Amino acid sequence: MKAPLAALAAACLVFQTSTAVFAEHIHSDYSSPSEISYEPTNRQIVDSSTSRYASYLSDSGYKLICQGNLVAAENLLKQAVALDPNHFAAQCNLGYVLNKTGRAKDALPHLLYAFYSFPEEPAVVPLLAGTYQLLGNLPAAIQLCRLYISRFPGAPNRDYMAAITRHLIAESTEQATKNYNWTKKNVRVFIHPGSGLQGYREEFEQVLKESFSSWSQAGVLTFEFVRKPDRADIECVWTDDVKQLGSLAEGGEAVLNHQGNAVSHARIMLLTNRNSAVAAMSLQEMRALCLHEIGHSLGMMRHSRNPSDVMYFTVAATATPSSSDIMQLQRLYTH
Ligand SMILES: [Zn+2]
Repeated sequence: MKAPLAALAAACLVFQTSTAVFAEHIHSDYSSPSEISYEPTNRQIVDSSTSRYASYLSDSGYKLICQGNLVAAENLLKQAVALDPNHFAAQCNLGYVLNKTGRAKDALPHLLYAFYSFPEEPAVVPLLAGTYQLLGNLPAAIQLCRLYISRFPGAPNRDYMAAITRHLIAESTEQATKNYNWTKKNVRVFIHPGSGLQGYREEFEQVLKESFSSWSQAGVLTFEFVRKPDRADIECVWTDDVKQLGSLAEGGEAVLNHQGNAVSHARIMLLTNRNSAVAAMSLQEMRALCLHEIGHSLGMMRHSRNPSDVMYFTVAATATPSSSDIMQLQRLYTH
């Protein structure tokens, strides 16, 4: 007897916990809040004109982040922290840029400095949690998320952080998920139009097609783009509404219909717009998101434990499947 048709959704936490920091949210006078219990000893005295110039560089850096120009932002933020290491927003936003561009290791000292120097500031905690998430240190990320929720119970993104915490906990426990595979060699793909959606860019479709092509290099499946959804094996749907996904923390989702281990249909949802200060998705992020969700649609339902794989549960700046991603797919189709 044939196994019944079933549907399975891959829960993906594709986004990092982090978002860029608004300079206006920052206490400019460190000594005023009375509840500060930690005084860093290596605090450097900076004269007020140097500090003002550092603030100017930091604000300009933040504006560049909002415009998506991370290279120029990094340059200004590095100058700002060199002039004034106690500039909270500059340290945080430099950490943010380094996280975003695949250099979480380099982000760590900046964010740790901000975290220990400004314990009353909520903004650094999700950034630092995001760094540990990207580095594969889930216990540290979970600890920081919990600290954030307990220390800042009124934070507006509390629900988002709680959703992330649940994903991190699920991810750090043993995954019982099975893998699946297509029984055909040529898989037909239909891409629904995305124009008009918030954050949608015409280039996204090309990025999505290139992502399929990257996976075809594993040599096990070929992809054919069809003009009608009723002939498609995989359907790709853009959305600007995070509520259509399984949780607030997700950037995408893949739902597989399967009979036993054989996939009969897959539907990929891709979020075009994120609910944060910097809402627009860069092409680099979209590519990482597409590669990850396509990987699920090909039957790889388990996440990798290695942050440099596109099948790691958080995707930062991965532009192409790693050799281990490719091997994983080949293994699925050669048994
Ligand atoms: Zn996933």
